[in-house]
Amino acid sequence: MQTKILRVNPRNPSISQIRQAAKKIRSGNVVAFPTETVYGLGANALDSKSVRKIFAAKGRPSDNPLIVHIFDIAEIGILADNIPNMAYDLMERFWPGPLTLVLKKSKIVPKIVTGGLDTVAIRMPKNKIAQAIIREASVPVAAPSANVAGRPSPTMAKHVREDLAGKISLIIDGGPTKIGIESTVVDLSKKTPMLLRPGSVTLEQLQEIVGAVKIHPIIFGKKTNTIHRSPGMKYRHYSPSAKIILVEGTKAKQKISQLLHQYKSQGMRVGILSMEKSHTKSDLTRFIGSNPDTIAANLFKSFREFDEKKIDIILAQGISQKGLGLGIMNRLGKAAYKKIRA
Ligand code: AMP
Ligand code: MG
Repeated sequence: MQTKILRVNPRNPSISQIRQAAKKIRSGNVVAFPTETVYGLGANALDSKSVRKIFAAKGRPSDNPLIVHIFDIAEIGILADNIPNMAYDLMERFWPGPLTLVLKKSKIVPKIVTGGLDTVAIRMPKNKIAQAIIREASVPVAAPSANVAGRPSPTMAKHVREDLAGKISLIIDGGPTKIGIESTVVDLSKKTPMLLRPGSVTLEQLQEIVGAVKIHPIIFGKKTNTIHRSPGMKYRHYSPSAKIILVEGTKAKQKISQLLHQYKSQGMRVGILSMEKSHTKSDLTRFIGSNPDTIAANLFKSFREFDEKKIDIILAQGISQKGLGLGIMNRLGKAAYKKIRA
């Protein structure tokens, strides 16, 4: 399959380009497009055959559910049942934006979208291109991240091309995504809301609106025997081919220098993922920023850069889990081959 890449102006998308993408979705095909979080791979959420193409292109396990993207808040009533008031409070505050709500699914949502669950994840994106495509498609659009399963989520059209060229027919290139990590996911299908995936809408912001929020133990890297409320969480994610070693604690810096020398002396190519301006020399040191917004925006891109430079080991120092830090540390933790406390 030929993969066409269409450059679209993110501030003022041309309607004829948007219609090309929407037409593909309406006719049962998949299209990759930017959202404010990462690039998504979208298909008509109400059509099982279309949605199956997403799973096939990504090589995604069938029990890992998709997020349904909407343009108009009214669609929520079609996709979900028993919507609690809390959901409306959160929508009012954070939509359009990087917050996904898990609600009881309605009959209309095919099981393939929800990985067999009786709940559906819904989000209204803020990115203008995403909004216009969903509006013109005039169907809800199921869209997971547009990467091959297990690879880091794409934050640029070229990442989508690296993973999916030949497997999908259209990539909409709207430049780099703003946020860089996937949406916050909160489950509202039970009495107390539960954070299933941290993101740029922070735990603290959610608590301000709804009060108590439980945190799924897996976010802190704990192994649980209980049934996963979010099946996607059990899969190793976001990983570059290089092995990430995540070092935390007061002696993290010293430990990183020691590991750098140790692995170098074993003949390995060692990279450093740096979140402080003072760099340590390595085969590839990538400074990805010192504030959480910049770190999130550059994180997945840097994973791919380490792979391009054939790095074997990536040493990364942990950051505070406050605010967006929780989402960043969650992605680093899931990508990590090993975590060390020093
Ligand atoms: P992705 O868009 O690739 O980041 O994947 C979407 C993620 O949203 C999944 O891996 C799940 O963690 C989460 N998700 C989607 N639908 C549900 C649902 N019904 N219940 C819980 N989590 C969900
Ligand atoms: Mg994903």
